[in-house]
Amino acid sequence: MRVLLLGGTTEGSALARAMAKAGQDAVLSLAGVTRAPRAQPLPTRIGGFGGVAGLVDYLRAERIGGVIDATHPFAARMTRNAAEATAITGMPLLRVDRPAWAMRPGWRSVASMAEAAEALGPVPRRAFLAVGRKDLAPFAASPWHDYLIRSIDAPPAELLPPRAALITATGPFALEDERRLLWERRIEIVVAKNSGGDATFAKLQAASELGIGVILLARPEGPPQIRTVPDARGALAWLHDLSATPAPGTERGA
Ligand code: NAP
Repeated sequence: MRVLLLGGTTEGSALARAMAKAGQDAVLSLAGVTRAPRAQPLPTRIGGFGGVAGLVDYLRAERIGGVIDATHPFAARMTRNAAEATAITGMPLLRVDRPAWAMRPGWRSVASMAEAAEALGPVPRRAFLAVGRKDLAPFAASPWHDYLIRSIDAPPAELLPPRAALITATGPFALEDERRLLWERRIEIVVAKNSGGDATFAKLQAASELGIGVILLARPEGPPQIRTVPDARGALAWLHDLSATPAPGTERGA
């Protein structure tokens, strides 16, 4: 069975490697947001499908038999589209969704980046934004803060708030490096998404240790009733079960 793996995450890459190793017939799909994504050992296609209709066409044209959605917890549109398209085509869908980070004392949860920008308050502060370029715009409304922004690729200048310094880097980040970064840049507050997982947690651990406040964007709600596993291992088990189940109307081994 040919599987479409929607990636762009640590779990997606881990799963791509594991599926290639297992000889699974699969295509990895990336949105094309990162300019130079790390090569993965699966055939890879890049770019949007053109909404639900485009994805349905793709699934049929490429004779896909099942979809694994390992996109980021905040990639809500792709997750919704995958749920709708697999419901239309009647094929199995698995969501790989890492658990959210538990809130700690002194951390604040917000429902939007606009609320995060407002939560920085009226007094100028030195804020570390680890939020991705699509989420920078609201901070222009709070131009009195000093921002340190970290992203994989440099965001276009028009998206940057005034008083912004930029670091381009790709995780995972070591705890020691995060401690040094927050300390040397005299960061007073960290703004991030509640992405979960290990690869990007070190900045929050470092902030906790240094007594620095944290503002976390809460996750968007996903479509209900999708079979979900927390990691690549769970997805491999699902694939194994799926390949052992005969397709409707067929005899095993026929
Ligand atoms: P999104 O808002 O849910 O999706 C926007 C559109 O991008 C989708 O409608 C789809 O276009 C296309 N798209 C998204 N993921 C795709 C994939 N894996 N393959 C092909 N097309 C895809 O997604 P997003 O938040 O922009 O995230 C884009 C990618 O970056 C995802 O693959 C995600 O895993 C990764 N990522 C996102 C975040 C984040 O914070 N949002 C963080 C780390 C990594 P069409 O409608 O045209 O099909």
